[in-house]
Amino acid sequence: MTQEGATAIARRVIPVGEALATVCAAAPVLGAERVPLVEAMGRVAADDVASGRAVPAAANSAMDGFAVRHADLEAPPVGLRIVAVEPAGSVVDTRVVRGTAVKLFTGSVIPPGADTVVKVEDTEERDGTVVVRAAPAAGANVRAAGEDIRPGQVVVAAGTPIGPADVGVLASIGCASLSVHRRPRVAILPTGAELVEVNETPGPGQVVNSNAYTLAAAAREAGAEPVVLPITRDRASDIRAGLAAALEADVVLTSGGVSVGELDLVKDALTAAGVERIFWQVAQKPGRPLVFGRRDERLVFGLPGNPVSALVCFYLYVRPALRRMQGHRRLHLPVVHAALTASVRKAKALTEFVRVQLAEAPDGPVATALAGQGSGMLSGLGNGAALLVGPPELLELPAGRRFPVVVLGETTLARDAPPF
Ligand code: AMP
Ligand code: MG
Repeated sequence: MTQEGATAIARRVIPVGEALATVCAAAPVLGAERVPLVEAMGRVAADDVASGRAVPAAANSAMDGFAVRHADLEAPPVGLRIVAVEPAGSVVDTRVVRGTAVKLFTGSVIPPGADTVVKVEDTEERDGTVVVRAAPAAGANVRAAGEDIRPGQVVVAAGTPIGPADVGVLASIGCASLSVHRRPRVAILPTGAELVEVNETPGPGQVVNSNAYTLAAAAREAGAEPVVLPITRDRASDIRAGLAAALEADVVLTSGGVSVGELDLVKDALTAAGVERIFWQVAQKPGRPLVFGRRDERLVFGLPGNPVSALVCFYLYVRPALRRMQGHRRLHLPVVHAALTASVRKAKALTEFVRVQLAEAPDGPVATALAGQGSGMLSGLGNGAALLVGPPELLELPAGRRFPVVVLGETTLARDAPPF
C-alpha cells in the first residue's frame, strides 16, 4: 500500500469487509518451534512429516483365527493340521504348507506360505486339527503391510491443524516431536480510570475490569498465550508506559479509550509509541471505534471498552489474525443462514451484528434477536448466542428473511442428541 493510500484508509470509516481483509493481510504467520507430540494437539504443522516406516509394518491378521493357504479350502469342510500358535506380539517362522494352518490372533503376523485368515467362528478345533467349515474369499482378514501408511508417505502436511487422529498417526510412525507454528503472545492492556480489580467491590462510578478476563479467555480459546497487564488510568503517560510493556508481545489488545471523548487517549498514545495506525473506525455496530495498527510485525488492536464491543471485535478481527499467525488456513468462524422470527430495526449505514439465538425449524434454522442489544450487556453474548449480520443498506431486517449468522461457539442448532 502506498503512503497516501495508507493515510486515506487511516482517516475514513471503513466497511467491515475491508477492515477484516486489512487485518488478515497484516497478520504475519509466526515461525516454528519443536514441541513434544503430547503438546501438538490443536497446533498447526510447520513442515511436512513423512513416514520412515510402513504401517502396519508387516502383513497381519484382522481376526482371531487360522492362517491358511486359500488353495486348501476348495471343498469345505476341510481339516488342517495346526503347526504353530502365534499370539500377537510374537512371530513364528513356521511355514504354512499344504494341509496345515497356524493359529493366530488379531494383530499376529501372517506366517510365510499363508495368504488367508479363517476367522475362529468358522472353525472347530480338536486334537491339533482345525476344521474349516466355510471358506472366506482369498486374502480375507489379512491386513497388508503398509496398507495404512507407505514408507515415505507424508502423513501430516505443513499447514495441517493437528487433531487426535494425526497425533495417533504421528505416534504410530515413531514421531515423538514435531515442528509447529508458534502461539502468539497477546498482551491485554485495560485502560480506564473507572476500573477496579475483580476482587474489589466497585464504588460509585466504578466497574470491574471484566474485559481483561473476557479477552484473555477469548485469546486462550483462539490458541494464543494471553498476558494481562495492570489497569492503566486515563493519563497519556500511564498509557504510554503500559504500551511500552505491551509491545513486547506479538499482539496488543488495549481496551477502552478509543472513542472521540477527551479522555480517549489510546489512539495518540499508540502513535507516540511508534504504532502505525492502519485504520480507526469501522462502519459497524457494535465496535465502531475499533483501531488497528502495527509496529513492525506486531499487531495492535485498540478495542472499544464496552464489553460487547470488545468481544465482538475480538471474534470478528482479532481471532482470524491469531489463527493466521498460528498457521491456520481456515481463519473465520462458521456461518449459517437463518430466517429472522421477527423484524429487527437496525442502525443506518452500519453493518449491525445482532445478537440472536438460533433454533432448528422445519424449513431450516431460524434466528430470534435477543431483547437486550446494548453494547454493555455482555450477559446476552454467552449461552450459545450468535451474531446475525445486518447489512448497512437496510434500516429494518424483515421477519422471514434469511441473513448470515456467525456462530460463536457451541451452537444451539446442533441437537444434543446422537443421530443413532
Ligand atoms: P471507553 O471505550 O473507554 O469509553 O469505555 C466504554 C465503556 O466500557 C464504559 O462504560 C466503561 O466503563 C466500559 N469499560 C471500559 N473498560 C472496561 C473493562 N476493562 N471492563 C469492563 N468494562 C469496561
Ligand atoms: Mg475509558
